[in-house]
Amino acid sequence: MKVKTRFAPSPTGFLHIGGARTALYSWLFAKHMEGEFVLRIEDTDLERSTQEAVDAIIEGMDWLGLNWDEGPYYQTKRFDRYNQLIDQLMAEDKAYKCYAPKELLDEIREEQMAAGVKPRYDAAHPRIVEANAGAKDGDPHVIRFRNPTEGSVVFDDHIRGRIEISNSELDDLIIRRTDGSPTYNFCVVVDDWDMEITHVIRGEDHINNTPRQINIYQALGAPVPEFAHCSMILGDDGTKLSKRHGAVSVMQYRDDGYLPNALLNYLVRLGWSHGDQEVFSIEEMTKLFSLDKISKSASAFNTEKLLWLNNHYIKTSDPEYVASYLQWHLDQRNIDTANGPDVKEVIKLVGERCNTLVELADQVGYFYQDFETFDADAAKKHLRPVAKAPLETALAKVESLAEWSTEALHQVIADTCADLEVGMGKVGMPLRVAVTGGGQSPSVDAVMCLVGKERVVARIQMALAFIAEREAQ
Ligand code: GLU
Repeated sequence: MKVKTRFAPSPTGFLHIGGARTALYSWLFAKHMEGEFVLRIEDTDLERSTQEAVDAIIEGMDWLGLNWDEGPYYQTKRFDRYNQLIDQLMAEDKAYKCYAPKELLDEIREEQMAAGVKPRYDAAHPRIVEANAGAKDGDPHVIRFRNPTEGSVVFDDHIRGRIEISNSELDDLIIRRTDGSPTYNFCVVVDDWDMEITHVIRGEDHINNTPRQINIYQALGAPVPEFAHCSMILGDDGTKLSKRHGAVSVMQYRDDGYLPNALLNYLVRLGWSHGDQEVFSIEEMTKLFSLDKISKSASAFNTEKLLWLNNHYIKTSDPEYVASYLQWHLDQRNIDTANGPDVKEVIKLVGERCNTLVELADQVGYFYQDFETFDADAAKKHLRPVAKAPLETALAKVESLAEWSTEALHQVIADTCADLEVGMGKVGMPLRVAVTGGGQSPSVDAVMCLVGKERVVARIQMALAFIAEREAQ
């Protein structure tokens, strides 16, 4: 049978790291098995679901490159189907109307708690029986699923192993609310059945729902899918991952300068392993992924490791790939790359030193934009009168240079040092500040080569003017 998985977020907020990991695992498993991956928006909670959240989830999935083969399906468009099946269960006496008012259920719950018993809905409770017997047809009611009273539900979770829950622990779940809307546990079963989902991979917060859902599958005569419940993700400090841990929305990671492939690599390792390998291309993770290598214990988020991976991906990915994601950051800074060297060459030169695309974008401005002043500290240190002769000498050599290459520029610096009998630093540093505006950059000959002759000449002249002005003061 063809494997089919799904990611089924409730659109009540953005796509967060936990959701993204669940989506990735479902996506990877489908790809690994040459199956299909479905996106389903679980928007039955009309009060909490928003279009904005739907858009944010889709934006996050798109940015990560987690493409779906089917969907997005929306539960709100499937109410007729859910209602048809609820009516069917009613006709088969597998579901029933319950008229017991909420106040009564609350009272009974309190009595149960006071008596030290686990609070649960008890259809045989004399006051509930009484409430139902006294009700008239049109009175407000919910519909409850008639959970089996005997035996137990057993399933083999791919991550957590065999799980067995006695039916005596499960009460009769509401499947249609008083307002006529179907509830999550029912819709999810109908959807997974209709969409022919073979493997349900989701967070462990749903593990208590699974036995209830299995009973509903069985009542509907539907095949029960396999389940894999993933553990929680904890923050750096071992507490539950929350907004306090900084970036939680996937799009925040884009804003903070992460590459999607680095984040995917980080997320796949956050709870799954293949020996002690840390770096996985998408092809590799697809090839190697398996549900039984997902860890049972909670995983702690580690920002340092994510940064390390991001640097690795900036350094080793095809510069064209890096460029396509750097572009967003350049746009934020109004840096127009039409106005300077090939951005791929700049990435090759500067990328190695950067952990994020934000750092990278912050360091490439001088390749594309002219500046009006030099960094004050760098200028104070390196654009002093003593730098005048090195800059003048280098300028003359640069102006007469026939071939514009890193090697030729390297020679310009070496010849300037030789002519003036000074060390490399006395020439290289003033040139660096002149050409980049600051005191830090990759190798200055390579930088000058990419910045281009016209700009290099103009900037050295600007540095000389700066020194002259300083002398005049
Ligand atoms: N809609 C549920 C949630 O966002 C997921 C349900 C499921 O995966 O079965 O938590």
